[in-house]
Amino acid sequence: MNKRFLFFFLCGFYCYSCFAQTEALKRPKLVVGLVVDQMRWDYLYRFYDRYGEGGFKRILRTGFSHENTYIDHLPTVTAIGHTAVYTGSVPSIHGITGNDFIIEHTGQGMYCTEDATVQGLGVEGRKGHMSPRNLLVSTITDELKLATNFRSKVIGIAIKDRGSILPAGHFADAAYWFGPDASWVSSTYYLKALPQWVQQFNGRQHGRKYLEKGWNTLYPIESYKQSSPDNNRYEGHLEGTASPTLPIPAETLLKNGLEVIRDTPFGNSYTLDFAKEAVKQERLGNNPEHVPDFLAVSLSSTDGIGHKFGVNALEVEDMYLRLDQDLAEFFDFLDGEVGKGEYTFFLTADHGASHNNPFFIDHKGAGGYMPQEASADYLNQALKQQFGYDSLVISTANYQIHLNHATIAAKELNEAAIRSFLVKALRRVEGVAYAVDMDSLSTGTIAQPIRERLINSYHYERSGVITIIPYPQWKGGNSSQTGTGHGTWNPYDAHIPLLWMGWGIKQGASNRVTFMTDIAPTLAALLHIQEPNGNVGRPLTDLLNLP
Ligand SMILES: [Zn+2]
Repeated sequence: MNKRFLFFFLCGFYCYSCFAQTEALKRPKLVVGLVVDQMRWDYLYRFYDRYGEGGFKRILRTGFSHENTYIDHLPTVTAIGHTAVYTGSVPSIHGITGNDFIIEHTGQGMYCTEDATVQGLGVEGRKGHMSPRNLLVSTITDELKLATNFRSKVIGIAIKDRGSILPAGHFADAAYWFGPDASWVSSTYYLKALPQWVQQFNGRQHGRKYLEKGWNTLYPIESYKQSSPDNNRYEGHLEGTASPTLPIPAETLLKNGLEVIRDTPFGNSYTLDFAKEAVKQERLGNNPEHVPDFLAVSLSSTDGIGHKFGVNALEVEDMYLRLDQDLAEFFDFLDGEVGKGEYTFFLTADHGASHNNPFFIDHKGAGGYMPQEASADYLNQALKQQFGYDSLVISTANYQIHLNHATIAAKELNEAAIRSFLVKALRRVEGVAYAVDMDSLSTGTIAQPIRERLINSYHYERSGVITIIPYPQWKGGNSSQTGTGHGTWNPYDAHIPLLWMGWGIKQGASNRVTFMTDIAPTLAALLHIQEPNGNVGRPLTDLLNLP
């Protein structure tokens, strides 16, 4: 072999190796996250026999389910749940300590996504002054933006502002939520004006077509065997209806405009219709730069209906059967628009819900309502007798005691003595399992899983100094007697579904214990991007099937 030939041969081999190494990184074209607000894990199986093949069962059949996924923070409410799913982080780090929370040293209230520096688009006043500015860490959606030099598109959609804004993160192209008369609105944080396609969608008054049919049961009413008889005292009812029963005629639903759609199963259909429009109009999943896009959707109607009617209500069963059909349709749409197997889908919940208290107690279950001794008014009277000053407790919201630090400082009161007085007083209240001074978490006698959740959740500036943990199925004294609520560490509030399907996902299921904070780092692993900057979760590698 002459030298020149050898030279060209080696160059050729070298170039071939270069080309061989330039194969592009494989990623899904689109990630679709779906948070079903207030979906208990057991709704997957409670209504299993009634689901069709294309919705929940398609995910369970072709995707992966983490059957024992728990929330690792307190309280288990909407804003914190959505934040944890998308940040892999906990309130002590991400700073979202409630839907509403109180700044401990000033006593000022703050709404999780309030931002007075921005204006609404399509909405006036407070409902438009919204952004992710109070969120102190990055989201997985933010990290995707960073990883692709902002070429990925990220859009958040939910009826609730917080269900849309917190998942979409700081760098989103847009987040949309509900404005007047069921229109989709945003704020100047994201955009200068609502895009044409959003204005057109709003102009079509698309929600009306659902409400004009009324809310009838999807199947014959006698087939709803998983629910209580429809007319019972444990359920609240929709405004303008005489009883908590179906059907609800169109005239009743439409009496006060379209906004009522959020309290019907059609709020889910309507949200997914808007999500589909966003996929089409924004070309999500068909990014011209060949990078993944991210659509973060949250369904809020499941929470509204759950709160009103309760876990055992026929209305809730009907809603999940309808949601199952909506999901089947949504997957068919994504298969067509993005391509089957080309997108990664995951479904989870921000929290669950407990059984209705009177229902539970009537059936001889243990539970109750905490007496007025746990109320701010009562505690303030007791403190006044002991320390001589009024209103030392500012709030007991979110099961946390916030103190009046202005008075404590001005009157030079002994804060440690006040705290210890409150802890002692609260421990004597019926229904209180623990009353915990957050500064003595490490030495307090508290069951370890609860201690961990409390430590995860204690943000010095945005949490109260004492936390109350009620016994299972015990509620605050002012809680509604109808429907349901949530907020505690108990499995009914904290055991959530975690389902995955599509690109990069194996078929299977796991019963090992996993946490809400594991979702974001799993998505990071799947996408080959950095996990969010406050992440404390661990990637769930058992589901990955990466090319
Ligand atoms: Zn919620």
